[in-house]
Amino acid sequence: MSSQSILSELSESPDLETTMPALFIGHGNPMNAVEDTEFSRAWAEAAQALPTPKAVLCVSAHWETIGTRVTAMEQPKTIHDLHGFPRALFEKQYPAPGSPELAQSTKELAHQTPVELDWDWGLDHGAWSVLSRMYPAATVPVIQLSLDRRQSPAAHYQLGRELRGLRKKGVLILGSGNIVHNLRAIVWEDKAYDWALEFDLRMKDLILARDHQAIIGYSKLGRAAELSVPTPEHYLPLLYVLGTQTDADSTTFFADKVTLGSMSMRSVRIG
Ligand code: ZN
Repeated sequence: MSSQSILSELSESPDLETTMPALFIGHGNPMNAVEDTEFSRAWAEAAQALPTPKAVLCVSAHWETIGTRVTAMEQPKTIHDLHGFPRALFEKQYPAPGSPELAQSTKELAHQTPVELDWDWGLDHGAWSVLSRMYPAATVPVIQLSLDRRQSPAAHYQLGRELRGLRKKGVLILGSGNIVHNLRAIVWEDKAYDWALEFDLRMKDLILARDHQAIIGYSKLGRAAELSVPTPEHYLPLLYVLGTQTDADSTTFFADKVTLGSMSMRSVRIG
C-alpha cells in the first residue's frame, strides 16, 4: 500500500475507536539493532502489544537542526551515522517507505511551530535501530521530525502537544533517545552508577506523577541530572511523547534498566 493510500484511508476515518499509544524508547547501544538482547526483545514485544500503526512519526536524538524539519520523501534512505562499530551495523538497511502526506499533515498541525519539509535526511540509527526490531518487515511508513537545537525544553514539549492529534489518526509517535545518556562516563559493563540510578528513578516518579513541569525543568534537578543529561538531545524526545499525554492515558514502563554505567534504557508507553 502506498503512503498516499494509507493516509487517504486515514483521513476518511479520522477518529479510530482507540487512540494510538505513544512510545519513548531508550535506544542505547546501536548493536541492539543486530544483536538479540533483552532490549531488542522488549522493543519487539512493545510493538506487538500495539495496534498496527498507519505510520510512525519518530523524534530521534540523532537529528538536530536549526529550525524544525520533517522528512517528506517517498523512500527515506538508511543513514549510517555511526563510528567504530562492526560491519553488520553498516550493512543494515531499513527500507520502510516515507509518507509525504503525513509530513504535510504534521507541518499543518504544528500551528505554533514553523516546520519545514525535508528531502535530504532519511532514517538515522536512532530511528532504524529501534524500528527494525519493532517492525522488521519495514512495511509501516516512517517520517522523522528533527530537534531544533535553538529551542527550549518547554518548546519541544509544546510541539509534542500540538502533534497529539496524530495519535487519534493511528500514527505512532515514537521518541528515541535515553533518559540517562553520558557517553564520557560509559563503561562496557552491565552496571549502573549511583547518580544514573538516582536520576532514572527520579524520572520514573515524575513521569508517574505526571509532573511534566519538573520533567521539562530537569536542569534544576541537581547533580544527578547534570551528570545524566550532559547534553539535551537524548532527553528531549521524551518531552514530545509526554506532550501527547492526555488525562485518560495510562503510563507503563518497559526495558527499565540502567546499563553501561551511564545509560538508562527505560522506555515509556503512554496510553
Ligand atoms: Zn543515541
